[in-house]
Amino acid sequence: MPSFAELNLIPELLRVVAEQGYTEPTPIQAEAIPLVLQGRDVMGAAQTGTGKTAGFTLPMLQRLAPHANTSASPARHPVRALILTPTRELAAQVEEAVRTYGKYVPLRVSVVFGGISIDPQYAALRRGVEILVATPGRLLDHVQQKTVNLSQVEVFVLDEADRMLDMGFIPDVKRIIALLPKTRQSLLFSATLDGEIRRLADSFLRDPVLVRVAPPNATADLVNHIVHPVARERKREALAHLIRSRGLKQALVFTNTRLGANRLAYQLNREGIHAAAIHGDKTQPERLQALADFKAGKVGILVATDVAARGLDIEDLPHVVNFDLPGQPEDYVHRIGRTGRAGATGEALSLVCPDEHERLTAIEKTIKLTLPRELIPGFEPDPMLVPSLMTGTRRREGDALSGGGRRGQHRSDEVRTGARRSRPSAPVDPIFSSPYQPAQTTAPERKEAPAKQPAGQVAALLGGMPARRK
Ligand code: AMP
Repeated sequence: MPSFAELNLIPELLRVVAEQGYTEPTPIQAEAIPLVLQGRDVMGAAQTGTGKTAGFTLPMLQRLAPHANTSASPARHPVRALILTPTRELAAQVEEAVRTYGKYVPLRVSVVFGGISIDPQYAALRRGVEILVATPGRLLDHVQQKTVNLSQVEVFVLDEADRMLDMGFIPDVKRIIALLPKTRQSLLFSATLDGEIRRLADSFLRDPVLVRVAPPNATADLVNHIVHPVARERKREALAHLIRSRGLKQALVFTNTRLGANRLAYQLNREGIHAAAIHGDKTQPERLQALADFKAGKVGILVATDVAARGLDIEDLPHVVNFDLPGQPEDYVHRIGRTGRAGATGEALSLVCPDEHERLTAIEKTIKLTLPRELIPGFEPDPMLVPSLMTGTRRREGDALSGGGRRGQHRSDEVRTGARRSRPSAPVDPIFSSPYQPAQTTAPERKEAPAKQPAGQVAALLGGMPARRK
């Protein structure tokens, strides 16, 4: 791996990289930085967590650095770089990253996204800004109001293109691209690069270089997955019990619906466990506040939907809890990618009730692992209804039941989404910082999905066993 200095970054950037404590470039940075510096268009297959933000921001800052000036005149600060992101949170984080990496390069950066008042955004745009981070909808509002001029954009970055697609933003993105100068540099980043994303890329990139980094989930081998079989109606109590008995200090808890997130956060608070909810119905200030409180440790439990959690760069996250199992197996991979970073261990706990059996099977098939089961004494589902549930499980607090043979078995090494093998109750070291996390193919957030109640499949819960003990 070349060093940052060998990538020919200017001293202003080398300094900040050193201050950030980055000792060497990540693979995407090592590949993308020289290409972007050369002015090439890049199509990057890379997810959040690979270090892609610095991968495009550092060389972009270097290319724009000659334009840096301290003039008060707005005309001296046209928008020269535009970064589009799918979510407000990601936009805010990218802006923060640009600000950080650009600390010693006097270029102005600003962010525009919906859900908050547009007025302060007008003011910033009017003063002039060289690097603009935006979500598509709000940027088009500004275009319509004629409060932004994109005619001098030299570098265009489309970040997380696959999520743009998921969220239905591609028409807006195309509208924005049509407003950009024809001569420019364009970069596209996406976890997946097939089908529609590929067609989109082909439509606006000019002779792009494909940069592909290996899925960064090797570190997820350090994630300790545990499935806690529980009765549906006792999930909340079981979660509160786990939080207390395991002393969980900081956990991101996933629900499948906004309503479910609200309800769970409310109920946990009522029980004296500080929790906040983050989802698409919350206002932007509320979401940012909840995230800030969580990061600062003021709130121990952040209850989130998949969409709200996308793109959140939360470091030091020791626990991810699936209060509901996701309907899309890929969402499980995405969720657990938030723990087990930086070679530290993390825990992915899933509360699974009988009617989620099919989902669990689909997840295990996708990640090619059989997840270890662990009963929480006092919260077991009715064993007569779900005999298979009691097979291959162990009790918490070391009170092992029969079997255990299913625990953490690797079915294949092809996919390293990784349950750490056979260590369901290992102590957890809650120190994380690595940039890596796995693929994400999440579906748009649902308002409220009806829980599936596949009565006939209850029997087969967690292992394909017959419905009743004979
Ligand atoms: P990203 O994929 O851009 O969201 O980056 C994920 C995380 O990786 C961020 O918290 C960055 O601060 C961190 N990061 C970026 N580049 C490096 C690097 N070269 N070494 C260590 N951490 C990095």
